[in-house]
Amino acid sequence: MTIKQRALQHIINVRTSEVSKIQALANKVQIRAFSIPEISHAQANYSAAIWASKGNEKDANLIKAKADFEKVLKANNLSLDKLYPNDVICDKCKDACIVNGVICSCSVKTYIDALRKESGLMPDSFTFSDDNLKCVKDSKTKEVLEKAYHQMSVFVNKYPNVKKNTFVFSGLTGTGKTCLSQAVANGLLEKGFSVKYVSAFAFNNAMIAVHTAPIESRNDLISDYLTCDLLVIDDLGTEPITRNVTLEYLYLVLSTRQEKNLSTIISTNLDGDGIMTRYQERIFSRLTSKAFSLSYNFEGIDLRKI
Ligand SMILES: [Zn+2]
Repeated sequence: MTIKQRALQHIINVRTSEVSKIQALANKVQIRAFSIPEISHAQANYSAAIWASKGNEKDANLIKAKADFEKVLKANNLSLDKLYPNDVICDKCKDACIVNGVICSCSVKTYIDALRKESGLMPDSFTFSDDNLKCVKDSKTKEVLEKAYHQMSVFVNKYPNVKKNTFVFSGLTGTGKTCLSQAVANGLLEKGFSVKYVSAFAFNNAMIAVHTAPIESRNDLISDYLTCDLLVIDDLGTEPITRNVTLEYLYLVLSTRQEKNLSTIISTNLDGDGIMTRYQERIFSRLTSKAFSLSYNFEGIDLRKI
């Protein structure tokens, strides 16, 4: 299952449990209510009147029997709604949580919460509405950051109708690349897209787990990295290089995602030379491909021109 399929399953489970709770409560109310003789009697009269009316809602006996029943219920602090709650919580989707292939408005928040939980992004992570540039003093850094923030917020607004899908944010620690990665991730989550946010260290460990797993379970272990709408790998270059894993799986994930037009953000302390030396030509060219990639160096140097 993909992240989105799991989030969908989650909202359906939540709704099923809400419906069962309402039904269980109604059952309790009914048992208590019908143990009261006057309610039981009024209900029996009302049922008989429904039967005798043959579907005619204006039948005088039916109207009277209903009014009597409601009066007795009210006297016991009850109502028809409490006794017989609606069969569905949401009339729009009839509790399917999906309408015309789209998540129903009744479940959007629960869906996004589930996506957020899957993403690995902290609840207090940055968003585009935070004033992330306020504390940047260096004017050249600020200029590049402003441009990057602008372009990435356009990317989020237009997503999924975007041409570039691979972004490299490079620069020393504290230049704002992590804030921007988080803002993009939050932006796409809010639009209902799936995100996976991992440190390079955690990504490398996940790939070691894939590499060393039995062949039949490898697909399941790597699937989220190959199918989520946005993958963020934070701090590339800080992970150890594991033979047959680090470079091979990074290339596999990057190239698969580019071919499927799925988005990837890499943040790194390395500059272009550093990436080339550590990850070699084929990963470097994926990260700097003119067709798919956009690179920002937050100290004002365009990575592609190095
Ligand atoms: Zn609904």
